[in-house]
Amino acid sequence: MNHMGNATAKAELGRSTWKLFHTMMSRYPEQPSDDERVALAQFIHLLSRLYPCGECAEHFQTLLQKFPPQTSSRIAASQWACAIHNKVNERLGKPIFDCSDIEAKYPCGCELE
Ligand code: FAD
Repeated sequence: MNHMGNATAKAELGRSTWKLFHTMMSRYPEQPSDDERVALAQFIHLLSRLYPCGECAEHFQTLLQKFPPQTSSRIAASQWACAIHNKVNERLGKPIFDCSDIEAKYPCGCELE
């Protein structure tokens, strides 16, 4: 794969991952159990270890040390996720995203379940 192809694949992977990431947060329980809190913290930690782009994973792990995942509620988790994505945006010279009403921006299409 040529350089452009790699860059496109990396960006596609990023967009897809962020989509899942924010949509998960928008459906995370408003009042999570201890078990659910542990599950989210572990998911984020494992994602930072297993994310296929090595440079991204390394940087993400450093960010997580500085800004530990917030798992106490849906609002806390989705605001934290928006803020950490903004940290990545900042590093890549991308615009800062408005985190107000973030949950409404990531519907999962599963409201009736
Ligand atoms: P993306 O950043 O992919 O965002 C997709 C869409 O989400 C945007 O169009 C916007 O509608 C919305 N959005 C933007 N900011 C926010 C926010 N703060 N909260 C909620 N929604 C938002 N790429 C690298 O080149 N180097 C890296 O080190 C790197 N690290 C990454 C680490 C992680 C954990 C992930 C998931 C991705 C990483 N990427 C990295 C990929 C990079 O973040 C982008 O996904 C990619 O460059 C495509 O950018 P984009 O402009 O399409 O928007």
